[in-house]
Amino acid sequence: MLDNYVRFLDEMSLRELHLISRDLRGIRVLHVNSTSKGGGVAEILSSLVPLMNELGVRTDWKVIEGDNKFFNFTKKLHNLLHYPYPDSIESNEIVHYFKITYYNSSRIDTENYDVVFIHDPQPMGLIVKKVIGQKWIWRCHIDTSTPNPHAWRFIENFINAYDACVFHIPEFVHESIRIPTYIIPPSIDPLHPKNAELLESDVKAILEKFGLDLEKPIITQVSRFDKLKDPFGVVAAFKVVRKKYDCQLVLLGSCASDDPEGEVVYKELVSQTVDEKDIFVLNLPPDSHLEVNAVQRGSTVVVQKSIKEGFGLVVSEAMWKMKPVVGSNVGGIKEQILDGITGYLVNSVEGTAVRIRQLLSNPELIKTMGIRARERVRHRFLITRHLRDYLLMIKKLLFSSP
Ligand code: UDP
Repeated sequence: MLDNYVRFLDEMSLRELHLISRDLRGIRVLHVNSTSKGGGVAEILSSLVPLMNELGVRTDWKVIEGDNKFFNFTKKLHNLLHYPYPDSIESNEIVHYFKITYYNSSRIDTENYDVVFIHDPQPMGLIVKKVIGQKWIWRCHIDTSTPNPHAWRFIENFINAYDACVFHIPEFVHESIRIPTYIIPPSIDPLHPKNAELLESDVKAILEKFGLDLEKPIITQVSRFDKLKDPFGVVAAFKVVRKKYDCQLVLLGSCASDDPEGEVVYKELVSQTVDEKDIFVLNLPPDSHLEVNAVQRGSTVVVQKSIKEGFGLVVSEAMWKMKPVVGSNVGGIKEQILDGITGYLVNSVEGTAVRIRQLLSNPELIKTMGIRARERVRHRFLITRHLRDYLLMIKKLLFSSP
């Protein structure tokens, strides 16, 4: 219930949400993405969709289907958009992408909606279904600051067919986009089981269930098993920290259904750490919200050492739980962490280790940074702000004259 958010906001902000949505009552909105569980997009939609409905905006969420070949290609595309790897897109991959898009276009009804949000590249070909009077918005969750040019050209042709697009930060936007472009950072839901308050005894019980020693500091990274999250770099930094501090590392992850690489990265990680009794690689189902919540709360320092990162909801999740986050100086992470104030931005394994050590040596600093971190999230990265931005954008697109 929206009213329950009043304890995190002032009442005016809630009233404003009701006011903004007044003209939107009864319109129909559809969100389409490629997985119902696992990863940030599913996480956001699971909170956003019910809130939009509560405000009278009739909102549905649908998920495309695809086979391995399709998701292998879209994962490759995802990687190439994140990073300019020297690879190209093959014509047989494009043909298959269209084949699966065609299949989804026949099973997903889009005609009965006024506004259609398409999240990320996997479903973006559905734009062929747009009919007169509808507004289609492409919502990008990827760090597209330095894409591979072939990959960018591939998606750019789709993007420009939309009515508007949304990126997390201005750095991700390219000159070649010719449609109205909005900057809307993502958000976390403070009432979601992943972020809601927990009893200390529950946190302890979960940490003990995983075999963690409650007397030793815990350093944690929560992420899908993905090379771009650099779990191997986290292990390397931890080994440097461990030379000075007797501590433990948790790498908590899961494999999303639209990411065929997850299993491979997980197995490699397990094989590299099998003899390390202080390193806990936890592969949990993608809806293990309580466990993620408890591990984040029970951590002394949280790390997010991504090589590239669209946003990194896990950073805000940890900051909300008053944890200082040591995060890579990339993409959306640098939007969340205020370097030296709420945590640290780092550029290397060595830098990560130095900052973790610095925090472990200073419990007062951990506390002060944690308090500031929570405030930053409260002001900038809660779902209510996200909701407001989306409603205003929808209003502008539907009701402004062209
Ligand atoms: N997450 C989770 N279990 C995992 C790994 C991730 O519940 O094993 C959640 C995490 O808490 C966050 C989301 O999935 O809410 C990941 O979003 P983020 O933006 O950090 O990364 P993405 O996976 O979208 O690249």
